[in-house]
Amino acid sequence: MEITPEIKEQILGTAKVLAIPMRTKFRGLTTREVLLFEGPNGWAEWSPFTEYEDEEASIWLNAAIEWAFGDIPKTDVKTIKVNATLPAVKDVRAALAPFGKFEVVKIKVAEAGQTLQDDLDRIHQVREHYPDARIRLDANGNWDIETALKIAKTIYQEDVPLEYLEQPVRTIAEMAELKLKLQEFNIKIAADESVRKVSDPLAVAQANAADILVLKAAPLGGINNALHIAKEAGLPVVVSSALETSVGISMGAHLAALLNSEYVSGLATAALLTQDVTDTPLIPVDGEIPVSRVKVSQSFLNQGALFTPMSQSWVARLTKCLDLA
Ligand SMILES: [Mg+2]
Repeated sequence: MEITPEIKEQILGTAKVLAIPMRTKFRGLTTREVLLFEGPNGWAEWSPFTEYEDEEASIWLNAAIEWAFGDIPKTDVKTIKVNATLPAVKDVRAALAPFGKFEVVKIKVAEAGQTLQDDLDRIHQVREHYPDARIRLDANGNWDIETALKIAKTIYQEDVPLEYLEQPVRTIAEMAELKLKLQEFNIKIAADESVRKVSDPLAVAQANAADILVLKAAPLGGINNALHIAKEAGLPVVVSSALETSVGISMGAHLAALLNSEYVSGLATAALLTQDVTDTPLIPVDGEIPVSRVKVSQSFLNQGALFTPMSQSWVARLTKCLDLA
């Protein structure tokens, strides 16, 4: 959409920069920096990771601007289903208790310092305590093909109710090779890290490198773009978050409602932050989150302590990216 001088002015005039501590270290981060602004549609979040170049960050900005100012298809869907997420921890029940009831759980595997046996132990514990839950395994690209096949064989033999392996290996070529080899175990692959940029989903689909695409609204330039990309790629999708506050998650939830995938969303991540920006956070109740706009609470905006000392650099980044967006 066209970014008029009036829109720029409103974004710069309402921008709030926040640094929110993470509950546990995630993606190497202990603090999540986000910028929020308000348009006629409501609040939007712009939170490209700090190491991203301006060009990539400006795509995330397009998504946020569309959410605050643009035309977004409407939906009557009131709630969407989300998966629970189990980090690589020993106490499985304590980690999953906050999610309440859930149909699907994503288990983090292949983390540094963990063995294949640690991963299998966690899977076994989940099956023991949550026998009805379907399982996703997210390796964040950390396995090689051989290791992925080894665990796939075990999962197959143990009849684990597996939905898919998420980014088991790093490259698109490895994913394509593994996908062929996994056919004998009837195991599906979802591409996550391989789908970070706008051009990636089609590349993955054309290389036949995944059965499912993990889509995030922000890196794909917004809801309308993501809808278009999902259609072009022609694969089932899982809508996921990019470690956002409830404002960013509300955009993902709206996308998920529009896509209506058979796969539940990975949007139950607001609780990874120690604080949210709203009195009505999008945290799951019985495996669902609401599909609704999120209002940033005044009390939060008044909490000066959460404003980052890096505000100036964020405003400079915003100004540059507004010219690129
Ligand atoms: Mg993932």
